[in-house]
Amino acid sequence: MSEIIVGIDLGTTNSEVAIVENGISRVLVGDDGDPILPSFVGLDSEGKLLVGKAAKNAWVLAPERTIKSIKRKMGLDVKVALGEREFRPQEISALILKALKDRAEKSLGKEVKKAVITVPAYFNDVQRQATVEAGELAGLEVVRILNEPTAATLVYDPQQKERTRILVYDLGGGTFDVSVVQIENGIVEVLSSHGDTQLGGDDFDDILLNKICDQFLAEHGLDLREVRTSKARVLRAAEEAKRRLSDFVETQIEEEFVGEKDGVPLHLKMELSRSEYEEWLKPLIDRTMDCVQRALEDAKLTARDIDRVVLVGGSTRTPIISKLLESRLGRSPHREINPDLCVAMGAAVQGAIIAGQPIDSILVDITPHTLGIRVLDRSDSFSFFGGRNSESVHRFAPIIRRGTPLPSSRSEMYATASDEQEAVEIDIYQGEYSDVRQNHRVGKFRIEGLSKVPSGNPIVVQFDLNLNGMLKVTAKEKITDLQKNIVIDSVFSDISSDQHKESKRRLSELWTDELENSYRNPMSLAPSGMGDETENSPEGMGASDDDFVIRSDDYKAIPDSAATANDEFLSLVNQANEVISKAERLKAKASAEDHDEITKQVSELRSLLEAQNYADIPARISKLADMLFYIDDA
Ligand code: AMP
Repeated sequence: MSEIIVGIDLGTTNSEVAIVENGISRVLVGDDGDPILPSFVGLDSEGKLLVGKAAKNAWVLAPERTIKSIKRKMGLDVKVALGEREFRPQEISALILKALKDRAEKSLGKEVKKAVITVPAYFNDVQRQATVEAGELAGLEVVRILNEPTAATLVYDPQQKERTRILVYDLGGGTFDVSVVQIENGIVEVLSSHGDTQLGGDDFDDILLNKICDQFLAEHGLDLREVRTSKARVLRAAEEAKRRLSDFVETQIEEEFVGEKDGVPLHLKMELSRSEYEEWLKPLIDRTMDCVQRALEDAKLTARDIDRVVLVGGSTRTPIISKLLESRLGRSPHREINPDLCVAMGAAVQGAIIAGQPIDSILVDITPHTLGIRVLDRSDSFSFFGGRNSESVHRFAPIIRRGTPLPSSRSEMYATASDEQEAVEIDIYQGEYSDVRQNHRVGKFRIEGLSKVPSGNPIVVQFDLNLNGMLKVTAKEKITDLQKNIVIDSVFSDISSDQHKESKRRLSELWTDELENSYRNPMSLAPSGMGDETENSPEGMGASDDDFVIRSDDYKAIPDSAATANDEFLSLVNQANEVISKAERLKAKASAEDHDEITKQVSELRSLLEAQNYADIPARISKLADMLFYIDDA
């Protein structure tokens, strides 16, 4: 058996470790089942070292005892304080690498001595050397420092022989990189690389933080940015809301006791919509698109020369990014491999190649077809009702795109076409063509009893697709919350064998320019004669009063019941214990009244922990942390 060489993505926000086994690259999970280790290092209240999720959680309560984004300082001659002591950046990175090494050893049941570690393509020698040193401090021999974009291409094309040019768009937490990579005869070369070391998902969080705090200031006269723990809480809530907005068109932020003014506790409650959020982001995304252009120019290539576009980094889940890349480069990006994990997986592929292991393609569970609904639309202007028998009634609006990893939940917003429209028909299709007649209908239902309002009544359509191909489709009238849903048991096996063959034939054409373009210019490029109306939709699909159209307007957000916080109980228990010990320590300093209240809160929190009532614990932790904060400051 060949030796073990793990692949490590040492990221600004998150890090991962992967291994190739039996030709398959696999990211290793921690005790909590999560493959992602947050790149946070901190100390708990007793001075015990915390790395990863525990440190990230502690950061909310004690930002002064936590270090994040250390990668930004790699190679600099600086020291960072952790508690009473100071450390060099590579020493902090070594703690993260050691946690990954331990994770790998526990998972594999063997000692791990060697690693391939990835760095951004723009890292200079000093930064690379600092990374090697961090590895050595963690007890790892760094057999190769690999460029992140190269790793990302290896995971998609481990054995590519023909010349292929790949544009890797990598937007992580703290940095942005775009690289043009060429693979030929198994040799991978970075032709050009551009980026912005100060642009990433953290900036998206800051934008949201500022919008939220500005609005809160206007409403309550308190600037939450000026209160350290309040700011940390809002920032965390903003980051969670940002993630939800990648999948859902609207969400809500709620933080109880987030601040206090004149002795009165204040609560934060705010609604956000994806469209307004993406509007705020637009200047930052435009900056990344300028870098894409420069990377192409430096490689002396045009968009046409690019064979694939690959997304890397958690922030690329923001839907506007794929849309803009698709419109600029004329092809939709690959997203089959989890963008958070593909660099680590590629590093493991490199490790396996060095160790002499055979490599297969990487297998993942993805949707083989795009799923969406029929809408009314004219290709040029997103206009309203296009007229009976007009081509505009046949537009396919994708909701979950082909290649999306499963399970997946996505929502999009549409609007009614006519005044006082009382019903809409949700016609669900799978396929790759913008002309819905070319695709396969998998189900339909009506939602009736809509409000008698002018056209443009917003309807939210949500698709929830599980690993077994079970699709739940929910349609909701936004202004009333009236909703209806259906569940389609097995959306992928619903194609008859003939249609299946036809779909396979069509799928084999995927990634050709025609198909890519057909999304962007649906009316002009949809091939004629492939599948007809009667085959796919016996009732025909002429426009009716039940049709509705895509609307590009902005909407006011409503609560997002589908989006739930994803706190695991272990981190909750850690947080709860931390806040309880802080309470025990500080309550002596509190007024008699506060002392009693804190004692009561602590005992209730303990009861919730004993009863394993995890749903109610976060609110209780927040409340207690908030009370303690004021004592702390007093
Ligand atoms: P990375 O450094 O590649 O691990 O990327 C981490 C960044 O991705 C952080 O800023 C996360 O907030 C962001 N991120 C993770 N998941 C999502 C998501 N679903 N939508 C938008 N951003 C995300």
